[in-house]
Amino acid sequence: MKNSKLALSRIEEKHDVRNIMDGFETFDEANNERKIRIKMLYKGGSKGEKKLASILENCRRNNRCDCAACPVCARRYRIRLIGNEMRIFGRGIDTHIINLIIHDRLVASSRLLSLDIKQMMWRLNKQIKRSGLRDAICVGGFEIKYCYGRKLWIPHFHLIVRGSSKAEREKFRKRFFKENGIISRPMKVQKVKNPIKQYSYCLKYQALYKKKVTTKSGISFEKNSRLEIAEHNSYLMLIGKYHVKDLVFKCGAKSEGETIRILNKK
Ligand SMILES: [Zn+2]
Repeated sequence: MKNSKLALSRIEEKHDVRNIMDGFETFDEANNERKIRIKMLYKGGSKGEKKLASILENCRRNNRCDCAACPVCARRYRIRLIGNEMRIFGRGIDTHIINLIIHDRLVASSRLLSLDIKQMMWRLNKQIKRSGLRDAICVGGFEIKYCYGRKLWIPHFHLIVRGSSKAEREKFRKRFFKENGIISRPMKVQKVKNPIKQYSYCLKYQALYKKKVTTKSGISFEKNSRLEIAEHNSYLMLIGKYHVKDLVFKCGAKSEGETIRILNKK
């Protein structure tokens, strides 16, 4: 990616997730994941899968692909994004994490590629501006989960929101994200207790599912697992249409190069 070294050097050490969070993925881990994705895409074998595999395959140190499906480019961008989030939201005073399930955009497994993420972001932006959250600063990311039981993709956003009162959040919930017959709680609000962990969770460029595992002694638990090849590759094809930056949602803030700036509020 052009200027990426310069941009990384602009992140202050105290905001650099590699310094302040245990277990942030290493370059080697991201690169290994890239190789697994390339292999699975070639195995899928369609023209589109092969094309995406070759984009990921040609991603090199001095010529990064910037594709949202590329784990190496996603990691590089996440370091910047989380650095920006730490600078803007800091310890999380007057800040909440709001998880939103886009309950009227659930998609059947075969129709995933018809999902328009930019349109969903545009609509969410309008909803925020029309509701009680219009003066808040929001930065977050798009994610999607697959539910094998219902054979549905469930799109959602994880937002970091500064400057909203409880009454404003409730107004927003009632207007756009109240209980419905499909999803029991489409909007969840959390306080910021562990900023780096919660901010880094907002965009992972990864879709996993909860697999039920039973041990020999009969104890069952759920484990985050890689999707089966059909869903795995569909997900990559969906996000592979976008630049790494495109899956970041912003309201009351905007991108300037690799930096996110807060817009002046009334
Ligand atoms: Zn790449």
